[in-house]
Amino acid sequence: MELKDLSGVEKQAYIHLQRDGAMTKKELQDRMGLKPSTMGRILETLIKAGLIEETIDQSVNSLGRKPFQYDIAHLGKYLLGIDISRIVFSAVLCDFKMNVIDSAELPGIIEYQSAMELIDETCMLVIEMLERNGITSAELLGTGVAMVGPVNRHTGCTERVEGFPTDDWSFLPLKDIISEKLGCPVYVDNGAEAAVVYEYIYGLGKKSRSVAFINSGMGIRSGFISSNVLIRSINNNENALEHTVVMPMGRRCFCGKYGCARCYCTTKSVFENIRNWKKGGRPTLIEKNIDEIYFPDVVEAAKNGDVQCRKEISSAGEMFGYTLANYIGILNPEIVIIDGVAISLSDIYYNNAVDTARSNLPRDGSVVFHRGGSQKELTMAVSAAAMVFEKLMNNPMIE
Ligand SMILES: [Zn+2]
Repeated sequence: MELKDLSGVEKQAYIHLQRDGAMTKKELQDRMGLKPSTMGRILETLIKAGLIEETIDQSVNSLGRKPFQYDIAHLGKYLLGIDISRIVFSAVLCDFKMNVIDSAELPGIIEYQSAMELIDETCMLVIEMLERNGITSAELLGTGVAMVGPVNRHTGCTERVEGFPTDDWSFLPLKDIISEKLGCPVYVDNGAEAAVVYEYIYGLGKKSRSVAFINSGMGIRSGFISSNVLIRSINNNENALEHTVVMPMGRRCFCGKYGCARCYCTTKSVFENIRNWKKGGRPTLIEKNIDEIYFPDVVEAAKNGDVQCRKEISSAGEMFGYTLANYIGILNPEIVIIDGVAISLSDIYYNNAVDTARSNLPRDGSVVFHRGGSQKELTMAVSAAAMVFEKLMNNPMIE
């Protein structure tokens, strides 16, 4: 018997142990609201199938008989998660409890001449990672890909992309290509949506009813869960938030509208403003060629006292704060996890964003902000790995 063959209630028991760790029969039956005899039968089935293990709970300090406890068994299978973003690519190898066994990183989409060049390198890096851990593709339960959107999770293809360095990222059959190269099942979803599912089930939002995950980098990506339901944005587009208007009649966005958040609070808007500033012959501590200036350079210069760089980051953070306030005001999440390059690299950006959001919220104090996901820079890759497991368990959230 394999995991996929379990009945609904057997799957539920397995999921409790997988998510929350070893527990006694009594603890598990109380959680599931089952009779001792029913619980006993389920545990017996799972033990016989080799899916869970029975051990003695050594932590109990009693002179009498120590209780048995149950935990999921290592099945010799692993999960692979891949995060394809504009700035970084990362891959993780995880066990069924989402512990990271190994990880690898490469530059993201903006550094490559074509989509296939990045995918080829990605797959080579992943194969190397598997080899150094002595794992074959047959031992992979599957590979999850958290893609910078928009992607169609049913077909595993990207949709028409905008603002990518090369056009070949549009309508790319990612799922089929990666599946053929790695020789295992592949699931593709929007990165921010995979991340919010992961944080809700395993991470920072585990005890909350509603969680938002917002990534601010070259674009703004968001995912939101309310009471077990993942609220997907229109047309599978995790970037919808970046096209909310924050400045009427403002700068023109590539989407055709004017004044979108993307033009004011992304890392791209910051470094483009500094490039233009330098192009105009105005003073800056950044000595690089204009076309080579990126967000980390602006952050570094701001730290060293560059007034204009500090001003640009500060203003972008503030505009991101207004965007957050609008989002939070409508959706009312308990927890907002803010992630991405802008957040991880700049204290000014993060603090301004949170201060502005807080002072513009309809009900101040009711929302908790977290800086970064629970797995730091690997959050999206681990989320992609978790997606493989949740798919196997038929989690309706990601259907
Ligand atoms: Zn726009």
